[in-house]
Amino acid sequence: MRTLITGGGGFIGSHLCERFLKEGHEVICVDNFITGSLTNLDEFRDNPRFTFIGHDISNPLKIKGEIHNVLHFASPASPVDYLNYPIQTLKVGSLGTHVSLGIAKEKKARYLVASTSEVYGDPEVHPQHENYWGNVNPIGPRGVYDEAKRFTESMVMAYHRTHGLNTHIIRIFNTYGERMRLDDGRVLPNFMGQALRGEPITVYGDGSQTRSFQYVSDLVEGIWRLLATDYHEPVNLGNPDEVTILEFAKEVLELSGSKSEIVYKPLPQDDPKVRKPDITRAKQLLGWEPKVKRQVGMKQTLDFFKKKMGK
Ligand code: NAD
Ligand code: UDP
Repeated sequence: MRTLITGGGGFIGSHLCERFLKEGHEVICVDNFITGSLTNLDEFRDNPRFTFIGHDISNPLKIKGEIHNVLHFASPASPVDYLNYPIQTLKVGSLGTHVSLGIAKEKKARYLVASTSEVYGDPEVHPQHENYWGNVNPIGPRGVYDEAKRFTESMVMAYHRTHGLNTHIIRIFNTYGERMRLDDGRVLPNFMGQALRGEPITVYGDGSQTRSFQYVSDLVEGIWRLLATDYHEPVNLGNPDEVTILEFAKEVLELSGSKSEIVYKPLPQDDPKVRKPDITRAKQLLGWEPKVKRQVGMKQTLDFFKKKMGK
């Protein structure tokens, strides 16, 4: 099996490359390192079944030989990143999706795309199930990411309906783990970095907004299982264990033993007030549910960041 992974140099993509190599696949990773890095590939770069192609997937790409699976994961993903690269984010969600679908069509490959819980926007339905159409502000700052991913989903369904492509759409909820960037601006690396440096923990708003954090190995298992199915509608992959951001800050403080104080900063525009996946569909379809408790996954991630910071 030969599997193409766009965004394979990023946090989630690198874990996917690793898993597919472990399963015996040849892996071709396409990345332009706009938010990823070469060091994410360190643990498997020398594997003879691994190939890296430096390329912006929003531009056409020819791949020689057979491809059995195309996994499209390229996209800035943290709010700070996609606000820094709004046009690249829109391009990779639209043109990048088109290019990667074109490769899958030419190679008669299975296709799986990383969509997001952000397609639900600031949700009015809680928890979010796949039949909810969402509440997105198309012209707000987050619109560049949310609408790109909504377009992605439409494009993928069009390729399925028009060309009979075997497509899969996952809606990923906040996922964390080793190989996240300490400076990507997401809440977990921010809080852990601040706690380890003894700096104030920056809670945005009053911290009453909620998120539900999934450890990366659970996500990868869900992706592996879904790819083997012929199911084409979107599937939520996330951990339903919901927590307020203020509680989460306290958990990081306790876990790290840090004496940092909590400070409050303005809540970014259109920041979703609640988020929690309804995973009934994934449970029924894949017999899947998250296994890694937040305390365990957070400890492993904290150890990773400590090592990175030489602590
Ligand atoms: P990441 O920033 O670590 O990884 C994204 C990777 O894509 C990076 O290596 C980046 O360099 C690459 N990339 C971006 N634009 C590209 C382009 N035009 N051409 C080639 N490579 C490009 O982020 P991540 O958290 O690993 O996210 C991976 C995917 O999962 C994204 O599509 C994201 O939208 C989706 N997702 C992630 C989460 C999460 O919580 N981590 C939640 C929902 C969805
Ligand atoms: N957040 C925070 N402090 C930070 C970074 C983020 O309070 O230093 C909040 C942010 O406002 C949001 C939640 O944490 O309510 C999750 O933010 P993140 O950027 O990780 O991702 P999102 O779920 O918003 O895409």
